[in-house]
Amino acid sequence: MKLLTAKFVVPVTSPIIEAGAILIDGGLIRSVGPVRELRAAMPAGTPVDDLGDVALLPGFVNPHTHLELTNYQGVLPRAPLWEWFNALLPMRATPGAAEREIEGVREGARQSLAAGVTLIGDISRRGITALSLRDSPIRRVCFIELISGASLPPSNAVELATIADDADRRFGDDRTRIGITPHAPYTVTPADLQAARRIATDHHWPLTMHLLETVEERDWLHGRAGFLADFLRDRGLACANYQPTDPVAWLSESGIADAATLFAHLNYADQNTIDLLANSQSSVVYCPRAHEFFGHTDHPWRSLLSRGINVCVGTDSLASNVSLSILDELRFLAARYPDIDDMTLLEMGTIRASRSLRLERSAGHLSIDAWADACAIPCVSGKVDDVVDEIINGNEKPVLTWVAGTLASTQAGL
Ligand SMILES: [Zn+2]
Repeated sequence: MKLLTAKFVVPVTSPIIEAGAILIDGGLIRSVGPVRELRAAMPAGTPVDDLGDVALLPGFVNPHTHLELTNYQGVLPRAPLWEWFNALLPMRATPGAAEREIEGVREGARQSLAAGVTLIGDISRRGITALSLRDSPIRRVCFIELISGASLPPSNAVELATIADDADRRFGDDRTRIGITPHAPYTVTPADLQAARRIATDHHWPLTMHLLETVEERDWLHGRAGFLADFLRDRGLACANYQPTDPVAWLSESGIADAATLFAHLNYADQNTIDLLANSQSSVVYCPRAHEFFGHTDHPWRSLLSRGINVCVGTDSLASNVSLSILDELRFLAARYPDIDDMTLLEMGTIRASRSLRLERSAGHLSIDAWADACAIPCVSGKVDDVVDEIINGNEKPVLTWVAGTLASTQAGL
């Protein structure tokens, strides 16, 4: 048992506490409140760690990243997605790439922890996250990616179920959750998609999927063959023989929105698609700086929020971004959209993001019985009312990060 005290405790799901503290035992938060109350109630001799002039927050949650692409940071210029993709793929096939990507996963986890991120939703085409992060303290949902007919398994729903089941048995615990991710509408056949949805539901595995990321995908989902149909045919992909007519019909037929699915991007959603998602348990992760990197038009995240959809932010990979910091994403948004209140932004990097991974009971807030996953950010503010503004609009970075009540990153290194 130990007590962490701070100038401000920012639980996110309850009011900010000045001169606050959290009591930690067994990796969980046992109590949250004013220092004097917690000191009076705790057993004599409980160690106290006074953090001083900091805001103590829940660890940030990054629900959409691809850590296996960490070592491609700064290698690829800003470009539309397809050009970027065509430049990336040959690099991933060079000798030694797989080993470099494993090291990239580990480096990405270290950078995430240093940025105060304690929980990630990570997608791996090579399926390497769970094994690569075996010794990392970061919490992770390891999404295993399905592309129908791919040369690398899983290439169909049966393989997906086998691989995910095996990973769950070998690695699944409080720190490592297994999830599944049919890659995108144009790379997964309708039959595989329906099967993936059933597999996720049967096993209670979180499910995520890229959707409506590009103009070309939007046109294809609306029944206009064009660029994407050629792209699929040229590569001999399994969806080359399939042509949807409308995104809403596609969503309804696949049943994919019925599994509390986390949709990544949704850059080009029309009103009917937004209506359908607003009537489901779906979440949407918007990756602001990757969105800008790829040169997309304005993202509809504010209309999604106003429709009550659970919107959160992610970083995507370092092959299209400059950091794995969720706080950097929130600051990027705050600078461009001053009309959005700072607390909503903070929620998009914490509780809304943990909800999107279906871990909202344990992560994304500082509450009794939640995981003791937290970060501390220097805070000079003297007033409770200014703390969130200072976190979101200031320049200070997290200096300490805890997972399960144990320090997982410090500025000086562990
Ligand atoms: Zn992605």
